Amino acid sequence: MCPHANGDNLPTDPSQMVPVNISHTNGTTTNGVKARPNGIPGAQPRNPYAPRYADFLSNVSNFKIIESTLRGSQSSCLYAPEGEQFANAFFDTKTKIAIAKALDAFGVEYIELTSPAASEQSRSDCEAICKLGLKAKILTHIRCHMDDARIAVETGVDGVDVVIGTSSFLREFSHGKDMAYITKTAIEVIEFVKSKGIEVRFSSEDSFRSDLVDLLSIYQTVDKIGVNRVGVADTVGCANPRQVYDLVRTLRSVVSCDIEIHLHNDTGMAIANAYTALEAGATHIDTSVLGIGERVGITSLGGLVACLYAANPEYVKSKYNLSMLREVENLIASAVEVSIPFSNPITGYCAFTHKAGIHAKAILNNPSTYEILKPEDFGLTRYVSIGHRLTGWNAIKDATNKIKELADVRTQSMEDVDTVLRVYHTGIVNGDFLVGESDKLDKLLQRHRQSSASDLTTIA
Ligand SMILES: [Zn+2]
Repeated sequence: MCPHANGDNLPTDPSQMVPVNISHTNGTTTNGVKARPNGIPGAQPRNPYAPRYADFLSNVSNFKIIESTLRGSQSSCLYAPEGEQFANAFFDTKTKIAIAKALDAFGVEYIELTSPAASEQSRSDCEAICKLGLKAKILTHIRCHMDDARIAVETGVDGVDVVIGTSSFLREFSHGKDMAYITKTAIEVIEFVKSKGIEVRFSSEDSFRSDLVDLLSIYQTVDKIGVNRVGVADTVGCANPRQVYDLVRTLRSVVSCDIEIHLHNDTGMAIANAYTALEAGATHIDTSVLGIGERVGITSLGGLVACLYAANPEYVKSKYNLSMLREVENLIASAVEVSIPFSNPITGYCAFTHKAGIHAKAILNNPSTYEILKPEDFGLTRYVSIGHRLTGWNAIKDATNKIKELADVRTQSMEDVDTVLRVYHTGIVNGDFLVGESDKLDKLLQRHRQSSASDLTTIA
């Protein structure tokens, strides 16, 4: 089994790292923005990572997350949670409840579950999660079918997400229904769910390979009968940000209800596409923890949060308990037996570790120089790596020269580095040598090693 916990966000060898004080007080606020730009008293700090152009459609600072880790996928296997398809893992009831509670504690607005029509177990799990009394609204994801809808509304969910394939591929090779049949069934199911006083969303499947006229026509129809949201799905992960922007913006101009988007990550675009969808007027984004899902998965919760935090940190901090993110990711990683990828935004192995000397100097002066995310906002720690040959003198001033010299011979452990620093510091404080007198430092280090060795001999 793969190791899965991401520990304390530590780099490869913790013995070579030093944590850095993150309470930086050089007059900067979040993301390094000066509190009073241009010296204008009372001026609002401007976030340099925020969208540059005001766009009245943009919901980058006004969105909701529909967390779909526990949901049935939209494509070939409707009934298996995205996460289960990812790694052949299986979420038992206890695990599902733990995940739902963790997501709720993180603060997602919606938690979406597998269709209760999938199996007796799915139905009872759905009921159990509804009974937890979570703050998040509970949704379930069903086929556009009256039989499924009847079962779903009895479980106590806050809303039902209805889906049907609209692309020519799905119409021809999957369910074999034409648009007239799809529209008629959609109206019947939506009106039934609405009559129960709960939310209802209608989504097409494989939207980006569906006929645009068909798509807009059915969305307009369901909008008119009062659906809460329409959903767009890049089921095969084929869309690029420009296509997403165009489709969502067009849709925004023809419906008045909310717009949800579900994006697969086959070409690595899922986070970028989600951001673009919000810019074009989407209101709800589907995510899964670590992006797990069918094939290479969907928009990841952590990645989306990182991206939206960069755009508006205060808004994201006000909505979500960001220090919970690592715990939530560890929980899912453990359940599906995978590692946290080293490149994972925020919680990846070395997300807040700085190695090269020139970076270390800037980071120590102002962390925002090389960071757009503040580790402390996520309950994490910034590290500067000092026990290697790229170490610059700025990290620990003069003593780094000695460490570099020693590290050229062999990698230095934390103890080795600590010894150099202590001997150097003591020598300077005692007036044994001045800055730059490296030969004297060498002698002091030699003396220190000899006395340590004789101490060990005495003990032995
Ligand atoms: Zn999906």
